[in-house]
Amino acid sequence: MTATIATSQTILVVGGGVSGMTAALEAAECGREVVLVERSPTLGGRTSQLYRYFPKMCHPTCGLEINLRRLKGNRHVRVITMAEVVGVKGKRGAYTATLKIRPRYVNENCTACGDCAKVVSSEIPNPYNYGLDKIKAAYLPHAMAYPQRYVLDPSIIGTEQADKAYAACEAGAIDLSMLEETIELPVGAVVWATGWKPYDAAKIQPYGYGLYPDVITSVEFERLADPAGPTGGKLRRPSDGKEAKNIAFIQCAGSRDENHLRHCSRICCMASLKQTQYVREAHGDAAKSTIYYIDIRAIDRFEDFYQMVQKDTTVAFVKSKVARIEQAANGDPVLHGVDTEGYHRYVTAHDLVVLAIGMEPEANGITLPDDVVTDSSGFIEGSADGGMLGAGSAASPLDVNRSVQSATGAALRAIKVIHQTAGEVA
Ligand SMILES: Cc1cc2nc3c(=O)[nH]c(=O)nc-3n(C[C@H](O)[C@H](O)[C@H](O)COP(=O)(O)OP(=O)(O)OC[C@H]3O[C@@H](n4cnc5c(N)ncnc54)[C@H](O)[C@@H]3O)c2cc1C
Ligand code: SF4
Ligand code: SF4
Repeated sequence: MTATIATSQTILVVGGGVSGMTAALEAAECGREVVLVERSPTLGGRTSQLYRYFPKMCHPTCGLEINLRRLKGNRHVRVITMAEVVGVKGKRGAYTATLKIRPRYVNENCTACGDCAKVVSSEIPNPYNYGLDKIKAAYLPHAMAYPQRYVLDPSIIGTEQADKAYAACEAGAIDLSMLEETIELPVGAVVWATGWKPYDAAKIQPYGYGLYPDVITSVEFERLADPAGPTGGKLRRPSDGKEAKNIAFIQCAGSRDENHLRHCSRICCMASLKQTQYVREAHGDAAKSTIYYIDIRAIDRFEDFYQMVQKDTTVAFVKSKVARIEQAANGDPVLHGVDTEGYHRYVTAHDLVVLAIGMEPEANGITLPDDVVTDSSGFIEGSADGGMLGAGSAASPLDVNRSVQSATGAALRAIKVIHQTAGEVA
């Protein structure tokens, strides 16, 4: 266990997505000391894996760039990547957080020149593209990664691949002796901004995800549409590489279902409406998108976006909960169900099916401190004494704008905790 780098006046923010970055920056710009801990090798979270944002359809790089500029100019935030909070003890104003930091095997001398990747031949599934393609085992997580520093995958440590990478690095940035570290931090307040994860689509058995290659999830579709994704932005279906023009979007895949997630994931109607515009962008008037829905939830200002998509002649809406998907003899996925407006059965083939997958709290499956209260879906409400707070999509399934608002609120409440407890603890 190594020395501390914080005090009881420090705010700990867990999770470096848009919510964690916002909470950290808002608190730091008020002069508070903040430690921002991120489990992956880069900040940005799942927002950086989207192709475009609704409702303005801009690229996620804009928002990320602004936050990174704010972060680089602020000496009150210390960022620790590849680190997880494994325990928090104590009380409001006087917590001790235990962090486990995984080795990156690359130090701050890295210039991101990429020479190590050129000599390494081993590959790993690419986490940025949800495993749809592979990357070298010496890699930069993505073009906008922060820190701009390569990572060596642990699978090559101790092999000649790592030795080759070491020899190729003229900056002296590769350190193969790095070990996992555990550190303890005294902090006064904790903001949990651990975000969300896509619900495991394989659990929705009638839809055949994992069985039929051309049934994919909405997060995977974001990567297909992105020029930085596995197909260079072409909407190619996984089975045969054919360009998908006739695409089905199935809403509430895993959400609003007692057998899966009970809650409405709130953003997936908007995500599918947005993704129909990726299909239009790719194929113009020859595009064909069909949204199978129970009801469309496009709240507040998103109603305008919904109306815009309703007028798009390439988009059709079928009010129906799809019963099951089967595969035709030619490999096409075929949807079976009943249209609840006309009450007729349909059996409809598409090139590709996109499951609008639900948002599950990422904190499901990690051990949270005993006094952190979660709702029935596992979203973090905070601790009873107010010293630990949920922010962004860790607290509720939220879009980016609402995540930022939630994180700003959490930062203010964390500052209040520090202010109120100052002097109570040494
Ligand atoms: C298909 C789809 C499309 C979407 N499109 C849009 C859109 O167009 N516009 C929009 O506004 N919203 C969109 N969203 C929603 C958007 O992705 C979320 O609003 C956003 O990701 C929330 O950011 P966050 O920081 O709360 O969580 P995340 O992005 O999940 O970030 C959480 C971070 O915490 C880290 N973390 C997790 N656990 C730990 C731990 N134990 N220790 C340390 N770090 C940890 C993670 O690695 C991650 O970096 C979409 C969602 C989906 C599913
Ligand atoms: S680790 Fe060395 S070789 Fe690899 S990108 Fe960084 S500086 Fe270049
Ligand atoms: S946002 Fe739409 S698709 Fe998502 S769970 Fe709610 S109703 Fe279903």
